[in-house]
Amino acid sequence: PSPLGPTPKLVIDLERLAQLPKEKAGPLARYAATIQSQRGDYNGKVLSIRQEDLRSLAVIYDKSPSELTEELISWGVLDAEARRAVEAF
Ligand code: C2E
Ligand code: C2E
Ligand code: C2E
Repeated sequence: PSPLGPTPKLVIDLERLAQLPKEKAGPLARYAATIQSQRGDYNGKVLSIRQEDLRSLAVIYDKSPSELTEELISWGVLDAEARRAVEAF
């Protein structure tokens, strides 16, 4: 086991996401909305997503998972802890 504890979750800040310009946030916002709809999870301020979903999103954004993670951290959509979740890939 890691000395830093279990792998952190990927938690999307939905309020921050809603503040970002559509050109940047559009694909992620649609992806998150689809997951919310599939779960029936509409009232959250945050959304925990699967590690697999970050891989899919990286393809959509034409970046590596770690590059996309850095971008989402810089936008304030992911917490810096998310780096450790992606290192576990
Ligand atoms: P599914 O993948 O067949 O999952 C069925 C149910 O198993 C989910 O119903 C949920 O209750 C549980 N489940 C599966 N994986 C996890 C997990 O990692 N953590 C937790 N806490 N529960 C899990 P639910 O939530 O109603 O989702 C229905 C369907 O919506 C899922 O069927 C899946 O097809 C899709 N879905 C929901 N959330 C996600 C997501 O974050 N990513 C992806 N790719 N699909 C999702
Ligand atoms: P946590 O994972 O640290 O989540 C803290 C709070 O963030 C949750 O409080 C909830 O208000 C919010 N949150 C996180 N992910 C989501 C999401 O995908 N959708 C929504 N709507 N809110 C989210 P909450 O619900 O009172 O849960 C408290 C703790 O209970 C969680 O802490 C976690 O440790 C556990 N828990 C709740 N649901 C699940 C689950 O599906 N799977 C697992 N393994 N633990 C869960
Ligand atoms: P979590 O519920 O704490 O689950 C942590 C990890 O346990 C998941 O990481 C996954 O590797 C495994 N796991 C949990 N439940 C299942 C399951 O039913 N089937 C399988 N095959 N694996 C399972 P992962 O996939 O990265 O998901 C991270 C978090 O995203 C989950 O934390 C949960 O908060 C959320 N999530 C993912 N998929 C779903 C889903 O279908 N429905 C809901 N409601 N939440 C989900």
